[in-house]
Amino acid sequence: MQDLKVLTKEEKEGLDVPRISEDQVAENSFGKKVYIESYGCQMNFADSEVVTSILQENGYVTTSNVKEAHTILLNTCAIRENAEHKIRHRLQVFTHLKAKNPALTVGILGCMAERLKTKLIDEEKIVDLVAGPDAYRDLPALLDEVSDGQKAINVFLSREETYGNIEPVRLNSNGVTAMVSIMRGCDNMCTFCVVPYTRGRERSRDLPSIIAECEKLFQQGYREVTLLGQNVDSYKWTSEEGQLVNFAHLLEAVALVSPLLRVRFSTSHPKDITDEVLYTMKKYDNICKNIHLPAQSGSNRILELMKRSYTREWYLDRIKSIRNILGEECGVSQDMIAGFCTETEEDHQDTLSLLAEVEYDFGYMFAYSERPGTPAEKKLTDDVPEEVKMRRLQEIIDLQRIHSAKRNEMWVGRKVQVLVEGDSKKSKLHHFGKIDSNKVVVFPKGNEVKGDYVFVNVTHCTSGTLLGELC
Ligand code: SAM
Ligand code: SF4
Repeated sequence: MQDLKVLTKEEKEGLDVPRISEDQVAENSFGKKVYIESYGCQMNFADSEVVTSILQENGYVTTSNVKEAHTILLNTCAIRENAEHKIRHRLQVFTHLKAKNPALTVGILGCMAERLKTKLIDEEKIVDLVAGPDAYRDLPALLDEVSDGQKAINVFLSREETYGNIEPVRLNSNGVTAMVSIMRGCDNMCTFCVVPYTRGRERSRDLPSIIAECEKLFQQGYREVTLLGQNVDSYKWTSEEGQLVNFAHLLEAVALVSPLLRVRFSTSHPKDITDEVLYTMKKYDNICKNIHLPAQSGSNRILELMKRSYTREWYLDRIKSIRNILGEECGVSQDMIAGFCTETEEDHQDTLSLLAEVEYDFGYMFAYSERPGTPAEKKLTDDVPEEVKMRRLQEIIDLQRIHSAKRNEMWVGRKVQVLVEGDSKKSKLHHFGKIDSNKVVVFPKGNEVKGDYVFVNVTHCTSGTLLGELC
């Protein structure tokens, strides 16, 4: 990217490394310190923990200080164009580092690696290694190839790889909450989405390894796991005895690890979420009453063009089931895309009216970004002007903010149970944690420690946070 030359203060500081002598370069070329930076969705952050585990098994050590790294790995996202811009920009910073330390290895992992393949090595001279999401077991061999002076690439997508037997090394962990990957890839072909091409076919991890990971986390003091997949409701695994395990069964098995271990999951697909899952959530107090249910649009015409396989009416029926089975308190959040191909003002109004009907607790909202190779790029026209996309996106965000505030106000004056996650960002005198429906609560510290469950009286709120006092 030629147009991204201005470095931020933070990035300039990243460049402020001592020059490395030739002797040191030789020493460094045998070094095994790896610095990993992760971008994008929770799946990518979870993958970096698998990568760290594989590298540590092979004698590498990780460092959080880029200045002392022999290898820099960027675990990348390709979901929107600006996610890729960010990585190209970051590579510029590392180009300066490499000029000072030619033995430095730079590798690109994840979705951008899978999407661009050898193009990345051709376009970004600094890149030595490219590894797609299913090639992480091969990383030690790829790093060996690089230390022999070659460029190394593996972007093979597997139909079986789940990294099920790898115990992730928790990175940036608070010691209380952890992510557990239960499946990989996606078989849906939403026309706007690059994921099926960068992460391959859907496959589910075996139940015993998921349960073993959750049990171990609990023994280590973790009190919350989030089960991750692009479409968790299509989790499917068959035991050697031929027993079919679906997502509801898996959820139940994880809930039974301990009543003190909270269970969350993401992402649910509106076409697949079943009442069986909702009833399983209701049955166990430790399965958190919160559902992330991306809608993408409120217009049936746009949903059809997106090939989401549901209508607005179907989606609203799922919301009705959530409310009937889990009640008003269950948190519901959305993903929404503004300005998809051919979207009219009427379609946009349908999205706003869907928001108004559901009144979500929270949302991730995006302007449509055309991705090369997707069905939308091949067959539809990205014809909504940028300023119209941005205006519609802002209208969606503004409405969501009103609903988030309203949904938070519902909790004011109530006593809530909070799992303590650590110090509040703003004050060391306050703790923060979450209630079961995923709302953040901040309160003045008492005698509790991270990982404790406490009761808090909610006294007031903002659109993002509940504030209160220990009971
Ligand atoms: N599997 C999840 C689902 O089906 O809802 C979502 C996975 S995707 C990593 C996260 C979100 O990114 C999507 O729900 C969608 O709102 C957004 N997204 C995906 N492709 C996009 C694109 N081309 N432009 C804008 N937003 C996009
Ligand atoms: Fe992408 Fe659709 Fe799969 Fe989600 S379900 S990852 S949006 S293709």
